[in-house]
Amino acid sequence: MSSSKSPTSKPEPETTPVIKKRKCLMCNKDFTSQHLGERVCVNCKGTSAWRESGYYAV
Ligand SMILES: [Zn+2]
Repeated sequence: MSSSKSPTSKPEPETTPVIKKRKCLMCNKDFTSQHLGERVCVNCKGTSAWRESGYYAV
């Protein structure tokens, strides 16, 4: 008999870091995103253009 094979379907660790470097959608600059929903840097969030885009995130 052949030796036991390791299962191909391994449980993926859900330790995805939420805080990571992202590129701002507005100015394309690298910034530290604090959560998954944060795609725009703080500078751009303060601009009126950001608010008018409808990405309201309180
Ligand atoms: Zn920006």
